[in-house]
Amino acid sequence: MSGGTGDRPGLVSAVGLGLVGPGGPAPAEAARRGHAELRALAEEAGRELADAPALEIARWAAGTFGDRFCVTSSMADGVLAHLVSRVAPGVDVVFLDTGLHFPETLRVRDEVARTLPVNVRSIRPRLTVGQQDGQYGPRLFNKAPDDCCGLRKVEPLERALAGYDAWAAGLRRDESPTRANTAVVTFDARRGKVKVNPIAAWRQADVDAYVARWNVPVNELLRQGYGSIGCWPCTRRTKAGEDPRAGRWAMFEKTECGLHG
Ligand code: SF4
Repeated sequence: MSGGTGDRPGLVSAVGLGLVGPGGPAPAEAARRGHAELRALAEEAGRELADAPALEIARWAAGTFGDRFCVTSSMADGVLAHLVSRVAPGVDVVFLDTGLHFPETLRVRDEVARTLPVNVRSIRPRLTVGQQDGQYGPRLFNKAPDDCCGLRKVEPLERALAGYDAWAAGLRRDESPTRANTAVVTFDARRGKVKVNPIAAWRQADVDAYVARWNVPVNELLRQGYGSIGCWPCTRRTKAGEDPRAGRWAMFEKTECGLHG
């Protein structure tokens, strides 16, 4: 298991990195940092934490950024929210509520909010689906999915992240060729923030083991043949041998929604 599920002692301590003080995690109200400092932090941590266990990576992020750090989740499962809540109880978990999610996904969102020590923030697009239909025509996702994702995911994420210096996502290298080089800590130059991918090195078996050990909420659709779950118009079941994300925007060349590019 490369990187580990975070249940063994960490390889690298945040204090050892020189990135947080010896007194422990940052105070709840973390200081604001400029882009140059954030970039330097990301580059140093990216090197030092490259092979660290997931929990150690999450601990570094929570300790370094305090309340200016959040988790994002698609609610395919509650793994990342659970993992980070172990080192940062009360952490904000951002969920992009596009208005086009499967009911199963909303159930995971609600279960995560109810059962984990986290603060789930559901962020909605500026336009309802009906308003979008009125302005851009119905089923924009079929005609121009990049525009639809821009309106319903990308802009809401920019808005949601405005108050943070760092955000965590559940990207994994084994999900698709486009994610094969995902770093555990990087500088998101487009947004001027540190991006943390604590479980980048995990494989599906690691996720399954974590879910079983901690009884973490999981989207029922994963048991019904969906390898990856997004909005219902753009998600289909995956076939045997396909990458987990092959069922996303399967009718288009599109492979990412623009959140992680
Ligand atoms: Fe629109 Fe599909 Fe993107 Fe959801 S995944 S925002 S429905 S294009």
